[in-house]
Amino acid sequence: MTPANCAFFQIEAQFAGGVLYNRLMRFTTIFFDLDDTLYPSHVGLWGAIKNRMNEYMSERMKIPVEEIPKLREKYYLQYGTTLHGLRNHHNVDVQDYLAYVHDLPLDNYLTPDPALRSILASLPTRKLIFTNADVPHAERVLAALNLRDLFAAIVDVNTVMPYCKPMPESFDIAMRIAGETDPSRCVMIDDLPRTTRAAKQVGMSSILYGETLANGDADASLSDWNELVGILEKIS
Ligand SMILES: [Mg+2]
Repeated sequence: MTPANCAFFQIEAQFAGGVLYNRLMRFTTIFFDLDDTLYPSHVGLWGAIKNRMNEYMSERMKIPVEEIPKLREKYYLQYGTTLHGLRNHHNVDVQDYLAYVHDLPLDNYLTPDPALRSILASLPTRKLIFTNADVPHAERVLAALNLRDLFAAIVDVNTVMPYCKPMPESFDIAMRIAGETDPSRCVMIDDLPRTTRAAKQVGMSSILYGETLANGDADASLSDWNELVGILEKIS
């Protein structure tokens, strides 16, 4: 079973038990980014993943070290991820790359946050992960954070290929997997302003995580998960 099929299977299984309706707000689906959103950026995991990307490009793809930072910046801006640039221009082995860059001892970086767990568990909306990483990484991160059972499905980079966040097509696919047809019933929570901005452009509401000011890139900002329910009610 491919990761994409796996995601479809999980959401169908969830819906077999009945669609969840939200009595407090108009939102029925919340998409959560994974890295640097469900855990704080200061733990350093995302930085370690970026180092693994550099290593992969240098050691496996033999790209000269001095060209790597410029190339990564270019691909990130042009395509949304380094991976999409390597796929389009260097014929990278996508699954090998994803496995390599995420091969890190997660327990050295992540610890469960019981308060976050109870806040997420209290939400009456359906919850999905929407990440530019892959399902195996998301599964490992969610297991390390003790959050896996709270999410109906994982929309990963393979699910939305050849797109990725922040491309509008990727949001269409994520909504289809969630079983949503109306973007105004969806919220995207992400630590990157370009993602929260893109979510707004497709008609979703969005919350910028890790900031105190949304600056027009999102409907709200969130730096403390305890504020989430109040923010959702406010922007609803
Ligand atoms: Mg992120």
